Amino acid sequence: MGSLPENFRFSQSSLQDYDDCPRRFRLRYLEGIEYPAMQAEPALENERLQWEGSYFHRLAQQYLLGVSAEKIERLANTPNIRIWWQNFLSFARADLADLRLCLPEVSLSAPLGRYRLVAKYDLLALTSDGRLIIYDWKTSRRRPKNEWLASRWQTRVYRFLAVRAAAHLNAGKPFEAEQIEMVYWMANAPDEPARFPYSPAQARRDADVLQARVAEIAGAVDFPPTEDERLCSFCTYRSYCDRGRLAGNLDDLDGEYEADEAMFDLNFEQIAEIAF
Ligand code: SF4
Repeated sequence: MGSLPENFRFSQSSLQDYDDCPRRFRLRYLEGIEYPAMQAEPALENERLQWEGSYFHRLAQQYLLGVSAEKIERLANTPNIRIWWQNFLSFARADLADLRLCLPEVSLSAPLGRYRLVAKYDLLALTSDGRLIIYDWKTSRRRPKNEWLASRWQTRVYRFLAVRAAAHLNAGKPFEAEQIEMVYWMANAPDEPARFPYSPAQARRDADVLQARVAEIAGAVDFPPTEDERLCSFCTYRSYCDRGRLAGNLDDLDGEYEADEAMFDLNFEQIAEIAF
């Protein structure tokens, strides 16, 4: 018998943690252990990039909620954030202008067996022909490869939940998979967004894989450490797990080892109180 609480809420972050390292899932979600080792060296640079990423997300959200570009411009207060903001503004004015509805920072949730699946979106947008576009902003220094993005739980969970839990945005009728597309917009590569349409076959496959993975986690007794020790270099639990004291190098962090999503959520909440 496993140790998952009845009311457990799965997210792309927890599913990804389980895939990357079952032990990390157990430490973070079952034992609630916070062990804030440095995630990458140089530490200050990494912390600054995570903070800037969180701050940029908040600026984008406020713009989409109606705060004027001029006001936000004054709050773009580091060289990185100024570049990202200018890139975002050009993108938003060109690509978001014709959308029927833009809903930033929306959460969706649906039952998943005895548990729930939840996701928080940077932006859900409706096109004039009734399609739902999921936007996610990425501030990693290098553009992640499309293949890597396609394999992430985020890409699968976000589209799957849009089919299962967004009927209220479609006059009460669930969206068909063909009406869903996910777009990763890259603040450092604004002209190279990664687009992932969805299909009924993909939605069926995602449902099967999700059910199987949740059953596996719910029945798990052992949560073994990953065999891929490269992952430990960028994991906040590496001292706790005795998997080395030194953080991985920041130059290797982007792309395949992108900033830790759970850490990102924490920073985003901390930064919620910018005065606009
Ligand atoms: S340090 Fe390695 S083994 Fe420990 S939780 Fe992190 S990824 Fe898993």
